[in-house]
Amino acid sequence: MKIHAIQTGTVALTTSWREGVGHGRRRLLNTLLDREWTDPLPIYAFAIEHPEGVIVVDTGETARVAEAGYFPRWSPFFRLAVRERVEPEQEVGPQLQRLGIGPSDVRWVVMTHLHTDHAGGLHHFPDNEILVSRAELEYAGGLRGRLRGYVNKPWPAWFAPTLVDLPPVELGPFPASLSLTDAGDVALVPAPGHTPGQLAVIVEEEDHSVFLAGDSSYTEDAMLRRAVDGVGADEDAERLTHERVRAYAETTPTVYLPAHDPETAVRLAERRPIGGVRERAVA
Ligand SMILES: [Zn+2]
Repeated sequence: MKIHAIQTGTVALTTSWREGVGHGRRRLLNTLLDREWTDPLPIYAFAIEHPEGVIVVDTGETARVAEAGYFPRWSPFFRLAVRERVEPEQEVGPQLQRLGIGPSDVRWVVMTHLHTDHAGGLHHFPDNEILVSRAELEYAGGLRGRLRGYVNKPWPAWFAPTLVDLPPVELGPFPASLSLTDAGDVALVPAPGHTPGQLAVIVEEEDHSVFLAGDSSYTEDAMLRRAVDGVGADEDAERLTHERVRAYAETTPTVYLPAHDPETAVRLAERRPIGGVRERAVA
């Protein structure tokens, strides 16, 4: 199956946002106090060219982030701890066009979660079915959502996604799952922690799976080291998600693709599974 990693600009974070320092409120505060920055990290959306139709996973960021007032001024996080750069032609819509994928080719848009750098391109999909977990939409909407860091005011007025409740159908170590395709080769699984309602997408290919992780971790390395991020809603849930990914990868070679890992595109191109680097280094 052809799977495209579509980079919609970059995001730089304070280092203690990418990897949490301390616990509880202190961990959140540390992301603001930190004056050390990561390099600009990619913001990936994905397009899966499936025989049943193209599946877009996340919509990346919008060039509107450069507009004054796009981010709420009262939020210290956007002022102090995150810097995004997106050119108009980097948005997901124009990039899909360049890949030869038109709006009517897209069968589903699956949102891992609704943070701005995943939902910024929603306006490119006014006529497509968009899937969001019910827990995620409830957590992200309204004033409460804004206080939790969701930039939800720019969501398109027509945004009324199909709400997903994952049925208790086990998929390996994941306690719930929903098969998206009739072929049964693309499934949604719960990946809570970074946000309570986050979903991940598992694409089964011949002898391995491609795991579109959203922000389950910022890097594969962090997931393997059991390191949580600085802003996630629930540290324990995040670690449990990491544990399930590792358990899944023990039985199925798994190409693990976080949305902001600088290695994501090359791992996808090579279909390099978790642990692939170390095996090669040892050999
Ligand atoms: Zn996020």
